[in-house]
Order: sequence, then structure tokens, then C-alpha cells
Amino acid sequence: PMPMLHNLGSINLDHVYRVPHLVTPGETLASHAYAVGLGGKGANQSLALARAGGRVCHWGRLGRRDAWARDTLADAGVDVSHVSLVDAPSGHAIIQVDDAGENAIILYPGANHGFDGATLEALVDTAAPGDWLLLQNECNGLAALLALAAERRIRVAFNPAPMTDAVGELPLSACRLLFVNRTEAAGLAGLPVDSPSDALLDALATRLPDCELVLTLGAEGAWYQAGGERRHQPALKVSAMDTTGAGDTFIGYYLAALQRGATVPDCLAQATVAAALAVQRPGAAAGIPTADEVADFLGKESP
Ligand code: ATP
Repeated sequence: PMPMLHNLGSINLDHVYRVPHLVTPGETLASHAYAVGLGGKGANQSLALARAGGRVCHWGRLGRRDAWARDTLADAGVDVSHVSLVDAPSGHAIIQVDDAGENAIILYPGANHGFDGATLEALVDTAAPGDWLLLQNECNGLAALLALAAERRIRVAFNPAPMTDAVGELPLSACRLLFVNRTEAAGLAGLPVDSPSDALLDALATRLPDCELVLTLGAEGAWYQAGGERRHQPALKVSAMDTTGAGDTFIGYYLAALQRGATVPDCLAQATVAAALAVQRPGAAAGIPTADEVADFLGKESP
């Protein structure tokens, strides 16, 4: 069977309020629309993997009242047997969006920051040889988990988003595959964010010589680097309406293709088409295309 991908990742509830302007100090402001949706980089990447036809088991934590979020992942085909309902508030974002499209966000990590040592041990005990572990930077326990994964020789894919100084202190040599955007690459490389992509890739190759690297650059496409090999995958020319979740879609589709044993150029192509479809639709999770839609575009059979 295909190796399993274990994603220990954030699940956030996004509360989106449409407001005439962003709230100012001391003001009480009426919102004229409200919607709640599933979010968090972890959950989005699991959804993308499942829609891509991948085998993914999500390790996550949600408040007891929010079982619907777990059901949404399960309905998409994600194995949720390790998503626990706990006595803590779910991770959530309070998002104001004004009429000009400007936003302001309060993020509370909540249950996403409550992973204990026993859960991390259980994850590495469950992983079979050849399985992948996927991580982002929205949950606690990363340093311990990377150390455990290195000990057990579990293949780790890491997307250090959102970037923080703490990422630089992690035992990153445990990573087999790193997905970074420009901000994350610059942070890890210790270079200015507007550095040429070659300089970013050179610095990362020096720092992590044994790690495959995928650098995504929005409409400028993506770079792949491993050892002496470096290849560019152009983005599709599309008119983007909402780029949130483009990176998560790209990562999910890349990893699902890799799970099926696809070559690097094929992984890049699948991920690029999926992300280009996602940016043409509103919403992060809602915008992630299905494998059939990606296959239609590529003019191939669906996996
Ligand atoms: P986010 O944090 O918004 O999810 P990100 O910064 O992690 O995104 P990007 O580098 O912006 O990720 O985008 C990932 C991939 O999505 C790109 O490599 C590209 O293939 C595709 N993509 C993003 N923006 C566009 C665009 N405007 N047009 C076409 N493809 C795009």
C-alpha cells in the first residue's frame, strides 16, 4: 500500500466578520456579515492531500463543541482517528475584513498548543517504515517530534509557516523535505526577504545539505533543489482572486503525488495546477480543487 502521511497540524476555526472599517480603539462596531469556516495550515494541508487522493492521517486537537470541524476533515477522506476533542478552546482566528479588502486578525492557538509528550510518542510508534510525517509551525512540540522522528528514521516534510525565530533553533537536519515561501526561506537563510532566489537557495543548500527543498514564489512559480540539482517550475498564468491557501494546496498536492511514487517534475506539475485552480476561487479550504479537476486540466486520468 501507499505509505501513510501523518500530519500533526493545526485546526483553526476562522470567524470572518465583514465590517465597514477595521474596529478602532474603544469602538463597538456592527458587522454586516459573518461566516465561520475550517482553517489552519495543518487542516488545509490534510484537506488538500485527501482531495488529491493521498492517504493522510491528521493528528490534531479541537475543543469539545467543535466536532463539526473533525467531521469536515473526515468527509473529505482524512483519517481523523487521532483528532481529539479536548477541554480547551479550539484554535481560532477572529478576522475582520473591511469593504476595501483590508483585514485585521486575532489568532488564538488554543488546543493546537496542547500536544503532550505521550501523543508525540504515540505518533512515532504508529508510523510504519516508509511513512511520512508532515509538520507546520502552528502547533507545539516540534523540537521533540523532530528529534523523535530522526531517532526512528521517519521521513519528515516541514513547512515552517508562519515563520518565527524559534524555527531557526529546531533540529532541522531531521527534515527530508522542506517547503518554504520567500519569507520563510529568507528567515531560515538569514538573508533579506528581497534576495534573489538563487541566493536563498544557495544559503539553504549550505545550511541543509541533505534536505530536498521546494521554494514557492507565488506567481513566479516554484524552485526545487536537491544536492546539485535545481529546477524551476513556472506558475500558470491565471487571474488570482484569493491566494490564501495557495501554499497549502501546493504542499498537499505535491505530497500526494510523491506518495504515489511520482517523479519530482510530475509532483511540481500537479502542485502547480492545483494551486493555480485554488487562487481563482474564494476561500482557503473551500478553494482547494479535487483530483478530478486537476486531472481534467492536465488532460490525464485521475489517480
Ligand atoms: P499562502 O501562505 O497564501 O497559502 P504561500 O506564500 O505559502 O501562500 P505562494 O508561494 O504564494 O505560497 O504560492 C504557492 C504556489 O501557488 C506557487 O508556487 C504557485 O504555483 C501558485 N500560485 C500562487 N499565486 C499564484 C498566482 N497569482 N498565479 C498562479 N499561481 C499562483
